[in-house]
Amino acid sequence: MTAQIIDGRKIAHALKTDVASEVAALADSGAQCGLATVLVGDDYGSVAYVRRISRIAKELGVAYKEVLLPSTTPKGELLARIEQLNRDPAVSGVLLLRPLPPQISEVEVFRALDPEKDIESVHPENAGLLALGTPRFVPSTAASVFHLLDTWLDEVGEDRASFYHRSLIVVVGRSNNVGKPAISLAYDREAAVMSVDEWASREGRLGWHTRQADVLVVAAGVAGLIRAEHVRPGSVVIDVGINPREDPDTGQVRMVGDVEFEEARARARAIAPVPGGVGPVTDVWLIRNTVLAATHHARKAFLT
Ligand code: NAD
Repeated sequence: MTAQIIDGRKIAHALKTDVASEVAALADSGAQCGLATVLVGDDYGSVAYVRRISRIAKELGVAYKEVLLPSTTPKGELLARIEQLNRDPAVSGVLLLRPLPPQISEVEVFRALDPEKDIESVHPENAGLLALGTPRFVPSTAASVFHLLDTWLDEVGEDRASFYHRSLIVVVGRSNNVGKPAISLAYDREAAVMSVDEWASREGRLGWHTRQADVLVVAAGVAGLIRAEHVRPGSVVIDVGINPREDPDTGQVRMVGDVEFEEARARARAIAPVPGGVGPVTDVWLIRNTVLAATHHARKAFLT
């Protein structure tokens, strides 16, 4: 079997057209719309992500502010920068890139975000709303995973509800910003759900879990973690990972996912690759959430 490719670039392009008209409508109403990213340190995946976001914000005409801080930044300084963004009327949405350096508590910084600007739903209020199935903002990476799946199901003519109702979705990786939101969205679709983290690998149980998956979502940040033997034949594989891999001959570094693409492709029914799968849709979704935050704000300002 050779898997169908779930083409994230094509799907993102269609979504971009919708978001562009939302941006234009907001601009016509005179409302401000701006996105800020905060990156502490130089994590490979986060640097690549920020580069893509600045490009797409520009393309879609959304004001963009980039805050770059060294990995030695003290917690107090980061909290002060977040507070500035909370107060800045030109900023509608804030994305805080992870991982944060060890001297900074992730949850404490999440709490400092204005929930109405927290477009990734990491503030406890928004994380709670997401867990209850009533999100203020659907976090962009998890949203992208399910937008790819939903769109692919539509393309192959399968009914979404009956596909999810009979599927086991296994999510590898359980971070607050990717794995856990993906699990919430899988619950919302009323699928059977299994969540696996690095302990499954350490205990030699990873394949035992992943081989049961009808849908395998991988967000571990470990290049080549998923090999042929981890993939159930006929399953759907969504690779979220962004990792650097150096070519031993040329020394050139290229981006790879968590899944050995050719191996998984030979067994799966469909696969979202890296690059060109989750990433492009995530970028557009983030802008969509920024527009949503700006719209909420404009509506509130009108009513008060
Ligand atoms: P994280 O480091 O916060 O979390 C990783 C999770 O994977 C943890 O739960 C950890 O226990 C688990 N894990 C680590 N090693 C494992 C192993 N060997 N076996 C099983 N589980 C393991 O990372 P994150 O922020 O969730 O991001 C995960 C990956 O997704 C990274 O590569 C990141 O760059 C990428 N990412 C991509 C996008 C995108 O738009 N494509 C967006 C965000 C993150």
